[in-house]
Amino acid sequence: MASESYGTRLQKFWAPNGWAFLWLVFGLMPLFFFQTFVHEGLHWLTAKLDGSDPNLIPFAHYNNSPGQMRNLNGITLNATGFVATPQIVGLLLMIGLIVIVIFTSPRARWLRTFLTWWYLGLILDLLFNTGRGLFDASNPLTDWGKFAAQYGHGLATFLSWVILLVVVSQLVWIAISSWHVNRPPGVGFFDYRGLAIAYGVVSLIAVIASWAINDPSIDRNWWFWLVFLGQIASFVWYAVYLYLARSTERSVAHA
Ligand SMILES: [Zn+2]
Repeated sequence: MASESYGTRLQKFWAPNGWAFLWLVFGLMPLFFFQTFVHEGLHWLTAKLDGSDPNLIPFAHYNNSPGQMRNLNGITLNATGFVATPQIVGLLLMIGLIVIVIFTSPRARWLRTFLTWWYLGLILDLLFNTGRGLFDASNPLTDWGKFAAQYGHGLATFLSWVILLVVVSQLVWIAISSWHVNRPPGVGFFDYRGLAIAYGVVSLIAVIASWAINDPSIDRNWWFWLVFLGQIASFVWYAVYLYLARSTERSVAHA
């Protein structure tokens, strides 16, 4: 097999073939919900194990409870126990995915896409949470601000840099990774139906959760509506795409 240049390997990790990068971008709204759900789910689990009765709100909104009073991507109310579970577990998950990419190259497209998509979600979540921690400037109301106050500013700053270094380490490990070996060949724009269905299911769950879950602390302000309408727009796009993919298939069959 012909060896690929370093730059090609790096580029093809994020954009393995023609339309795949575009479909990663199309997946950003469901990724937002999925990663928020994973993050808040970890707070929820921590609180459950701590014996409390947490309330998971995995969608963007303005939270009017005292001590918040701001736009959030999601929150777990009554979350007791270790505050930085999502960051620590997220870091371990990110390292786990990196190990997979370094040592394996699964043939299944859906699995490759899922791993790349989630890897992106973990990077965004971790950098969003700990970015200001690099300079010990985390908002004291956030997970990382509370973690710094409880466990030491030095430790929080150190871990912020560890997280950034793990993200940037792609520039090194991509050179020795097995991920590019036997990469499946590119497919056409209308060959992403399975992905459109999977994204659609996640966006639909996001829309339902955004209405079904209620709490007096939730204000459905512009930030809520922006993300909510983004989920609906994504869902509608996947439906239109699936319809177009069907008619394209039919006209090809008739040609
Ligand atoms: Zn959190």
